[in-house]
Amino acid sequence: MKTRAAIAFSADASFQIHEVDLAEPGPGEVRVKMQACGICRSDISALEGKETIEFPVVLGHEGAGLIDAVGKGVTGVKAGDPVVLSWTPACGQCLGCQRGEHQLCEQINMTTGSTGPLSMRGQSLDRFMGLGAFSEHVVVPEAMAVPVNSSLDPSLACLIGCGVTTGFGAAVNTAAIRWGESVVVFGCGGVGLAAIQGARVAGAARIIAVDPIQERRQAAIRVGASVALDAVGAVKQILADTRGGVDVAIECVGKPSTMLDAFNCLRAGGRSIVVGLPAYTDKIELPVIMLLREKSIKGSIYGSAKPHVDFQKIASLGENGQFDFEPLVDKTRHFSQINEGFAEMREGKLTRVVLTF
Ligand SMILES: [Zn+2]
Ligand SMILES: [Zn+2]
Repeated sequence: MKTRAAIAFSADASFQIHEVDLAEPGPGEVRVKMQACGICRSDISALEGKETIEFPVVLGHEGAGLIDAVGKGVTGVKAGDPVVLSWTPACGQCLGCQRGEHQLCEQINMTTGSTGPLSMRGQSLDRFMGLGAFSEHVVVPEAMAVPVNSSLDPSLACLIGCGVTTGFGAAVNTAAIRWGESVVVFGCGGVGLAAIQGARVAGAARIIAVDPIQERRQAAIRVGASVALDAVGAVKQILADTRGGVDVAIECVGKPSTMLDAFNCLRAGGRSIVVGLPAYTDKIELPVIMLLREKSIKGSIYGSAKPHVDFQKIASLGENGQFDFEPLVDKTRHFSQINEGFAEMREGKLTRVVLTF
């Protein structure tokens, strides 16, 4: 079929929306008519060269839509079903999937290169994270279109496909926060605000948010942080206020310096979780003796989530008001205004611009 997609032809060029060719869904594949797709930091990182992509590329990996058509052998969804796109293929065959760790599926790929269902005038288009959701339709494996039934507007539900699950899951799954624990979250963008809410839902007693931007600190308080600190001097103050450190520190910035700050905020036995996306070459230097005080540092990808279980659970929390999606979306824009949306996200103040179709 013909559909329309926003194509990036190079790192610094504007997106151009073109009519493109989309192959019919093959065996085990589904076609999704997109309703909304968030602009995630990783989309920007991809253009900046921090992620592997091939131009021309269709970005977008935080999408929600409706099943439009299914290929042979698809049994889990049917036309009309609401879905949230997942960027883990959850292939079921690799060792990661065999262990039940779908976030570690070996088939996760930032680039689909020159293979895939999307092309323009005979030239294949790369689809970021195997999705390429800045497009009116996508064709993906069934496992990447996760059924989610909720009354949430698609412009909110789409965030479950990346930012919300990444942050929320880091708190509830990776850190496995227990009731009464103290938690600090560094970075209060979309992922950080989701991590704060994960800590709240898990029963944390004290949640400290750290961000240099005033508006983000306010948003952190709105979603459940007990206190929000400027980044300057935060570690010293946290150590003083918590009588020697927090139980859990979650880093949602992606900078080596804040990863160290997170580690340095821990009590003996505390655990720090790195969620933010660093550059490939970034390194940190730790006082390793601190590991003998049973402090730990661990990474988290996709919130250590099982999309087919966790997406619906998060949506249900959203429906019931236990997870507040509203502060995570500053603005919705029509898909045709993708360039304006990226410009706003690049300014850094907005948490999320969501494109609607
Ligand atoms: Zn797999
Ligand atoms: Zn993302």
